[in-house]
Amino acid sequence: MHHKVVVIGSGPAGLTAALYAARASLEPLVIRGLQPGGLIATTNEVENYPGFPESIGGFELYENMEKQAERFGTQFLDAIVEKVNLSQRPFVLETDAGEMVTADTLIVSTGASPRKLGVPGEEKLANRGVSYCATCDGFFFRDKRVVVVGGGNSALDEGLFLTRYVSELIIVHRRDELRADSVLQERAFENSKVRFVWDSVVTEVLGEERVTGVRLQNAKTGEKSVLEADGVFPYIGHVPNTSLFAGQLDMDETGFLLSDGRTRTNIPGVFVAGDVVDHVYRQAITAAGDGCKAAMEATWFLAEQEHAEKKARQGESVAPAIS
Ligand code: NAP
Repeated sequence: MHHKVVVIGSGPAGLTAALYAARASLEPLVIRGLQPGGLIATTNEVENYPGFPESIGGFELYENMEKQAERFGTQFLDAIVEKVNLSQRPFVLETDAGEMVTADTLIVSTGASPRKLGVPGEEKLANRGVSYCATCDGFFFRDKRVVVVGGGNSALDEGLFLTRYVSELIIVHRRDELRADSVLQERAFENSKVRFVWDSVVTEVLGEERVTGVRLQNAKTGEKSVLEADGVFPYIGHVPNTSLFAGQLDMDETGFLLSDGRTRTNIPGVFVAGDVVDHVYRQAITAAGDGCKAAMEATWFLAEQEHAEKKARQGESVAPAIS
């Protein structure tokens, strides 16, 4: 399986890259990855993606993007890339199903995953009361008491979604001030189902077969307490999905890939887009913008290569087609 452009990841960055590459007649392949649609597909409602004045469901936005990319010739592969060899072109990718894919250019848009609390009980009780996706699992917590951890946009947005189902939502935040946008803060403060526990961290998720509560510690006083709950939704940020590229692509100390500002990486022909490179904005719209840039860079890169190869065949040495 050989493609001129292979995109790893199918969130807004990857699908926008595919749309642009497809419209440049490059017939890109998108390898969908572990979470088709990326984080946006697990988001309940998207109110800040331009063009949807009444908001749009995250999954619907993903489906629209995929259909649009497909319409211009994008191909899709439901697989997870397990190995990459970027030491020479074409690049070689190996999927979990053992398929080998080669690529003249690669667009890395593998996104980010929810950061774990890293406390005892969290792993054991995953999917048994611990969830990182309110949109996917909220329904199972009808009339239950649920804890959301974090004070950012995700915690409030997803927490407010959970109030459709739960009897009580307790937001545990490590400070006494929220990071979330003021519009979300106002909605949370006005919602009678929402209560805040300030200056507190979760030190353990409690329960044997299912979550029964969390152990808390006050960050200021050190006081310990137990909060009974049927579910825990940690929303404490994200970590970039970059381990696949360790030792090949340059990354910072927290694992975000590095680019030169034009989506180009340390390896010519490999481009990056979206949450995997952006630790500042992390919005669907900025990821989509990155995807557009990465595809345009890949298109120019391929044109330059073709131009150089053609001239080499003619025995000439030439200046690059695009500088
Ligand atoms: P975030 O903005 O980084 O917020 C993470 C929250 O978790 C912060 O309140 C942080 O506390 C807390 N936290 C971090 N590590 C922690 C730990 N170990 N223990 C306890 N608490 C911890 O992440 P996010 O909310 O996932 O948002 C990510 C990006 O997506 C942002 O750019 C956000 O704007 C965007 N987003 C936007 C929307 C929207 O526009 N509707 C919705 C969702 C997400 P501190 O505040 O003390 O640092």
